[in-house]
Amino acid sequence: MKRREWLELGKSLVVAAAATQLGAAQQKAKGKQIYVLVWSERTEPKEHYPDGHNGVIAAFLNKDPNIKAEAVSINDPEQGLPPEKLQRCDVLIWWGHIRHGEVRDDIVDRIVKRVKDEGMGFIALHSSHYAKPFQRLLNAPGHLGGVGHGREEHIWVVAPNHPIAKGISHFTLPDEEFYAEPFQVPQPETVVFISTFGSGHWFRSGLTWSVGKGRVFYFRPGHETLPTMKDERILKIIRNAVYWCARRNP
Ligand code: ZN
Repeated sequence: MKRREWLELGKSLVVAAAATQLGAAQQKAKGKQIYVLVWSERTEPKEHYPDGHNGVIAAFLNKDPNIKAEAVSINDPEQGLPPEKLQRCDVLIWWGHIRHGEVRDDIVDRIVKRVKDEGMGFIALHSSHYAKPFQRLLNAPGHLGGVGHGREEHIWVVAPNHPIAKGISHFTLPDEEFYAEPFQVPQPETVVFISTFGSGHWFRSGLTWSVGKGRVFYFRPGHETLPTMKDERILKIIRNAVYWCARRNP
């Protein structure tokens, strides 16, 4: 064959390979989607998060064809978690701050049952260390050693082979609240991330547990008056955690 013919053949092979890959991706997307409920108590300031943390996270997750995410809130009927929705849910993401006490105990019971007995995943974000379902799942108070203005937050990947750290390396958020140890939770299975702050504090900021049949992840960053929850790296970690909690490979 002449050189040009070889080039043409090479090109057609590349095109064929790309088509095969695309086909595989489409095939994969046709599998059962991971159904995610992104819950918020919706006290995020409107000027920072007009659609809430839950709106931002759900929009990001929905770019992934393997995920179907829905933003729900405490203001919806059944506080956003009617039984039939919770029953279909593969992973529940939770952000609360000052309305923890309003969350109905019968709904917390249902969440705990779905995780422990039926393997639903649960992801608690930032101030949700005091959320009722988080406390109940870990049987712990979730107290912090301190909280305040942290200046910059350095997020260190301390379990680089963990699926939640996939594609993530050390990065810095320019401005965040600090949380300080001791964090009153049970010994985690894996500490995926540790944060150090410009203020001199440190905190275990990405932690995993198995609770009955389910998987639980706590992720620290995300103060509601700062742009953290719009940061692509933060959103990618949350997406990785969705896959891990759902026991699926990205
Ligand atoms: Zn905060």
